[in-house]
Amino acid sequence: MAKRQLPEFIAPFKLARQRQSLQGGLPLARMSRLADEPQQGEAEVRLEFGYDDMGVPHMRGHVSATVQLRCQRCMDAMPLTLDLDVELGFAMNDEQARELSAMYEPCVLSEDHVSLSELIEDEILLGLPAVPMHAEDGCQPWLEQSRAEQELQVQEEKAERKNPFAVLAGMDLKKDK
Ligand SMILES: [Zn+2]
Repeated sequence: MAKRQLPEFIAPFKLARQRQSLQGGLPLARMSRLADEPQQGEAEVRLEFGYDDMGVPHMRGHVSATVQLRCQRCMDAMPLTLDLDVELGFAMNDEQARELSAMYEPCVLSEDHVSLSELIEDEILLGLPAVPMHAEDGCQPWLEQSRAEQELQVQEEKAERKNPFAVLAGMDLKKDK
């Protein structure tokens, strides 16, 4: 299927009645809650709307996106690719939402229309780690570099302390002043 931009707003109940499906890309730059870093690229979205046997309007599908995060250990860039299965049940109010929460992640719609971008942003946010970090050994190139730098510094300080001429040189300098 040819890639196309998805609409900014959707009417979930109507889409469910019509058993519509949506497929396309949503710019991540619009989803400002994902990270402090400016985002590029698109979330690839594939969604199917319908009513289940119980008469619950729902949306099922898949979202994949690569989000640019920052590792909280080494503070270096950390792109994270998410592949999420999405299943939302739509409700008109909190009571309905409670009823369908056993089967679906409930989504309460206060209006007929909802921003598709925000809906998908919420789903991506649920899939992001609370504290993004590289895998256990993923930070090592940077950590080892800084460790090596620290060791070098310590060795240099030791060498300065051990070298009496360095001290004398320092004294000479002071005398000259
Ligand atoms: Zn890291």
